Amino acid sequence: MTTVHVPAARPAADLSVWPASTTEPARGDLAVGGAPLTEIADRFGTPVYVLDEAEVRERCRTYRDAFPEADILYAAKAFLCRAMAHWIDEEGLGLDVCSAGELELAVTTGFPPDRIVLHGNAKSPRDLDTALRLGVGRIVIDSPSEIARLAAAVGPDGRQKVMVRVVPGISAGGHAKIRTGTDDQKFGLSIADGYAQHAIARILGRPQLRLTGLHCHLGSQITSVKPYLVAVRRVVGLMMRLHEQHGLVLPELDLGGGHGIAHRPGEPTLDLATLASRVRAELADARATAGLPVPRLVIEPGRAIVGPAGAALYHVLAVKHTGRHVFVAVDGGMSDNPRPALYGVRYAPRLVGRSGTAAPARVSVVGRHCEAGDILASDVELPGDVRPGDLLAVPVAGAYQLAMASGYNLVGRPPLAAVRDGRARLLVRREFRAVPTER
Ligand SMILES: *Cc1c(COP(=O)(O)O)cnc(C)c1O
Repeated sequence: MTTVHVPAARPAADLSVWPASTTEPARGDLAVGGAPLTEIADRFGTPVYVLDEAEVRERCRTYRDAFPEADILYAAKAFLCRAMAHWIDEEGLGLDVCSAGELELAVTTGFPPDRIVLHGNAKSPRDLDTALRLGVGRIVIDSPSEIARLAAAVGPDGRQKVMVRVVPGISAGGHAKIRTGTDDQKFGLSIADGYAQHAIARILGRPQLRLTGLHCHLGSQITSVKPYLVAVRRVVGLMMRLHEQHGLVLPELDLGGGHGIAHRPGEPTLDLATLASRVRAELADARATAGLPVPRLVIEPGRAIVGPAGAALYHVLAVKHTGRHVFVAVDGGMSDNPRPALYGVRYAPRLVGRSGTAAPARVSVVGRHCEAGDILASDVELPGDVRPGDLLAVPVAGAYQLAMASGYNLVGRPPLAAVRDGRARLLVRREFRAVPTER
């Protein structure tokens, strides 16, 4: 009897964290929105960010389907450019901004100002003046000193709708630096300590300010619905007490964003359908006990809309073996993605453009910057023959990467190309090039 050896089939690439449009047109290559990543790297140079327009739009629609009764505001700080503002507007979402800059970009693009909410723990005079001049829908008050300043800026005959950011005292979120629901951080006004109630009473004494609701944002990268339900209970509890004390009926409850996504295959994500049905039930319950009308729900997803729609492309510049590690150094790093250094985000980069034949090796993908902490992805698997000139792609790169890019080492912030129907177009130019990287 003879044994026939069938070569083990190469496992199909795990594309679960890539945009839905991602295909493998040839072994080792990837295309997003029909555009091969190798061609994008050739045309725009590296590092370069790629954003799948269809994925952004689809994610907006998923939110609208899950929360048909709610106002959905995209958190612009995750990533904003003119095209992005158009897509968000066309998909019927509102916008949450935190500076005059974000606000002006959106409004000069044609975004309706009444669908914009301004946030910020420390709003500058220019932030407030711009918001009033452009007529934003809501300003979220985040500190007591803002109340008199805003009322004065509105003037005796004006009226501005405001919300108050309250802190429900909940610890949730992927990392200490992205938790904003607890009492000992800089955002919002504590319910437990009475600061929120005190600020609300002062707002009610200012006829220029019309309080429409309460806002809370617990943090980011939250993958369980529970903290949101506790937040609803506590904020509705406060609404009840405000009704008893002031006869106040607040029509809006803004639950913020922070919906967790997977950066690597197999990681948990927040289930939107579950979140929607449980929050709905919680609000209905609260209404039954409080005897108040159900407030209109507002939610503010950022990362979950744009994060999974983006990818970053880098060329490998150097491969170095030390006693215990292999360092694969690329032509970008912490100046285009500070998130691993800031709060320990883990990514799953992969080789594109050729199929690595060597057995996988454990390596650390590091940046080119003058900091030992400039690590993009530590302890990941890449083909053992990874070498200078190779192209690496990092999925789930659409949120808080280009938006947080810095001028460190004067490397210059990378460009961003949008892909759709097999075509790529430049949305954000490369900032500055010390050395020619476009070939
Ligand atoms: C950052 C932020 C969001 C969005 O958070 P994601 O984690 O991107 O969903 C929403 N609301 C407020 C007030 C924020 O500061």
